[in-house]
Amino acid sequence: AIENWKQIQDVENAAKHEDAKTTDGHEVDVVCNIATPGDAPSVLENGGEGVGLLRTEFLFEASSVEPTVQEQTDALIEIVKVLGSRQLVVRTADIGGDKPVSWLSMPEEDNPFLGIRGIRLSFRNLGMFRNQLEAIYRTAMWQKEQGVESGIHIMFPMIAKVSEWRQARDMAEEIRAKLGAPKLKLGIMIEVPSAAIQADHFAPEVDFFSIGSNDMTQYVLAMDRLHPELAAEADSYNPALLRLIAMTVKAADKHGKWVGVCGNMAADPDLASILVGLGVKELSIAAANVPAVKLLIRSVSFAKLKAKAQKALTLENSEDIKELYKDRSDLM
Ligand code: PEP
Ligand code: MG
Repeated sequence: AIENWKQIQDVENAAKHEDAKTTDGHEVDVVCNIATPGDAPSVLENGGEGVGLLRTEFLFEASSVEPTVQEQTDALIEIVKVLGSRQLVVRTADIGGDKPVSWLSMPEEDNPFLGIRGIRLSFRNLGMFRNQLEAIYRTAMWQKEQGVESGIHIMFPMIAKVSEWRQARDMAEEIRAKLGAPKLKLGIMIEVPSAAIQADHFAPEVDFFSIGSNDMTQYVLAMDRLHPELAAEADSYNPALLRLIAMTVKAADKHGKWVGVCGNMAADPDLASILVGLGVKELSIAAANVPAVKLLIRSVSFAKLKAKAQKALTLENSEDIKELYKDRSDLM
């Protein structure tokens, strides 16, 4: 029996580089969220199988002017030098909302989380958006020169409408064609409820979905994720959020596309159990949480996770769902 914290860590560490496969053979990809090139080595050290979310805001926040294509490419090359051909989901700039940038003239907004952020900001700063796409494709070209097949995926944040996805996709394709770069997988974040509700419209066209549960929780409940009182109440056990996730997976499955979750909920073992049970294929989490989440997946049965997740979807309140997952013995 495992008796203390040290022993738990030993058990986690021993197996952190093995696949995350349930007792009945269902495999889940456990990858990492990173925010700078310096974070990349910790992904592999902790058993992460790739990067499910590179927050590229570091490229834009650090300097007082727009970084050049070369500077952006160099930063991305630093990351692929560590990851090789493993998956690297590069999210285009998610500036605005809680993430301002000094050198961009961004108007004061009464409700920045409902304002010009993410893809909306990129569409209003097309030069910046094009440069970022060029840097991403140039990184893939660099990999090709090295004889490495690129694992880079491009992901667009804050997509609310099908037309936005198509505009972003078309711009990426235009730049790729101009450079003669390799094709990369293109996907969207599902973090605005409208995108989850219309997942069946997006699914035939995208390569993948990644659910941003941090934002989707705040938008589905209309509770600011940074609000001193409300943030705690905006929890990711919320039945409405879980239903939107189930809806997204159902639409993706129908078209043979995969769904990941890159919000904080994916790192919580109970919430991760729900997500895998709902059919989420990839959990993207902080590197430090990889060993524990992999261990959890290896200890449970997918058939039982699925049955329990279906039960969770019938419950009315977060508290009821939390209670349902308190006892994990029925998942083994
Ligand atoms: C999210 O919204 O869940 C997410 C992963 O993106 P960020 O936290 O960077 O907004
Ligand atoms: Mg987000």
